[in-house]
Amino acid sequence: MEQKGRIYVVGLGPGNREYMSMRAIRAIEDAEVVIGYKTYIDLIRDLLAGKEVIDSGMRKEVERCHLTLDKALEGKKVALVSSGDAGVYGMAGIMLEIKDERDEDIDIEIVPGITAASAASAVLGAPMMHDFAVISLSDLLTDWELIKKRLTCAAMGDFVVALYNPKSMGRVHQIEEAREIMMKYKGKDTPVGIVKNAKRQGEEVIITDLEHMLDYAIDMLTVVVIGNAHTYVKNGKMITPRGYQR
Ligand code: SAH
Repeated sequence: MEQKGRIYVVGLGPGNREYMSMRAIRAIEDAEVVIGYKTYIDLIRDLLAGKEVIDSGMRKEVERCHLTLDKALEGKKVALVSSGDAGVYGMAGIMLEIKDERDEDIDIEIVPGITAASAASAVLGAPMMHDFAVISLSDLLTDWELIKKRLTCAAMGDFVVALYNPKSMGRVHQIEEAREIMMKYKGKDTPVGIVKNAKRQGEEVIITDLEHMLDYAIDMLTVVVIGNAHTYVKNGKMITPRGYQR
């Protein structure tokens, strides 16, 4: 009988091997074909001996998913890899959409990973102990007006806010506007954590506040975590109380 293909959409976590799940490693080991953006493929080179490896450039997500499906329909086991959690601004959604669009019957297993917000949180201390909102500042695929509305609602609701895609070479004022929106509803001394390369090589951490956050380097390898009204900094750690004391 012909082997039936299958697809794993695998979140690799922030980068260091120790933060990758056992299931993610097993899925990659089981795969005959591994597909992903080159930077992520490089993180798992040592696991790829004897496999067909297809690395592609950024912003080729749709093509990558079509290719994954094509290979699986040939009867192969294919791992499509993505950083952090594949289901958080990752490849999982596009993969499921394309499978449905093409109306193919193929098993897709989504393997979760540690997302940047969790990794950054662990580096900072415990800033996300209470309700939090994750917001991407990238307006490439989302209308900036909608992003501003979400920032406003999160700030009004006193959520801890984790900002993904905060700033790139071409997108510089989004983080400034995001800070202005936060300043309308949160105190200027609200703790802010800026983590670059959380839990991977090149990790950098800054703990500052809303007033001063723009004095520090922020880029696409960074997550910015803004506290709620109860978040404080002690002994170099950012802490949001869970509230058991009250
Ligand atoms: N699927 C990924 C997110 C992809 S969006 C995940 O779950 O983590 C890309 C954004 O994620 C980057 O611009 C940055 O804001 C954030 N990011 C991803 N990995 C990171 C890391 N190790 N340290 C800090 N930020 C990271």
